[in-house]
Amino acid sequence: MAGMGKVFLVGAGPGDPELITVRGLRCLRRADVVIYDRLVSEALLDEVPPGAERIFAGKAPGAHTMSQEEIHALMIDRARAGYTVVRLKGGDPFVFGRGGEEVAACAAAGVPWEVVPGVSSATGVSTRMGIPVTHRGVAGSFAVITGHRADGQDDQNWAALARVDTLVVLMGVKRLPYIVARLIQQGRSPDTPVAIIERGTCPGERVVTGTLADIAVRAAALDIRPPAVILIGDVVRLWEHWKGYLPVQIPFGSHPVPLRG
Ligand code: SAH
Repeated sequence: MAGMGKVFLVGAGPGDPELITVRGLRCLRRADVVIYDRLVSEALLDEVPPGAERIFAGKAPGAHTMSQEEIHALMIDRARAGYTVVRLKGGDPFVFGRGGEEVAACAAAGVPWEVVPGVSSATGVSTRMGIPVTHRGVAGSFAVITGHRADGQDDQNWAALARVDTLVVLMGVKRLPYIVARLIQQGRSPDTPVAIIERGTCPGERVVTGTLADIAVRAAALDIRPPAVILIGDVVRLWEHWKGYLPVQIPFGSHPVPLRG
């Protein structure tokens, strides 16, 4: 086939297929090849032209369908064959998504590339539920970390993280007891409210709230599993006042938390 194709790294959003960007959707509708991840909604694949090649790249925990190198090789191969390749990734491609590595691989291979941002689960999941990550007078800073490295090779600056108003933890369910222990050890109040949102914006979404002191026990009792976002900070307490309206019906494992001050 004549000419070089192009690789579009597209953020699919946090789960609900309506949360992809207009540009992301247009890319899907023009794709010759789509390479998609596990956390991407099946409904988005309906937007791909019928004749397009659909390739599942996997990445279930412990069961990698394709290695990162295989994904790179596939994207580059199809683009060199002249195809429009959409690499569809959960949330935003550059938030813990290894998107940077995929762009680097394209650049090194001389393949044209473009990144289409997505609604990251880091803010999109809580925002959709009505919990703001910042709020005047309550939270003037937020940070997003991975909980994945919280054991063993822990290189997070917990002293600094304990001072961030709203801390958002991705990939943190397994290491939740360790994470809360480090924050309390670094001076964060055990009364700090916490919300965990499991499968945010997706069918079967659940939320559990508590405090740094009891959230690990509460999450274990409800068998909270990945994918889940952990939100730590007073914005969760604020939300308790207006959570009456929610976009989806969800069970609450929460207790009433009074508003500070
Ligand atoms: N690039 C993605 C994040 C990839 S890391 C983004 O920007 O959203 C995968 C982690 O993201 C999961 O372990 C979980 O912590 C979080 N996550 C992704 N989708 C989620 C969802 N629908 N609900 C809750 N957390 C989600």
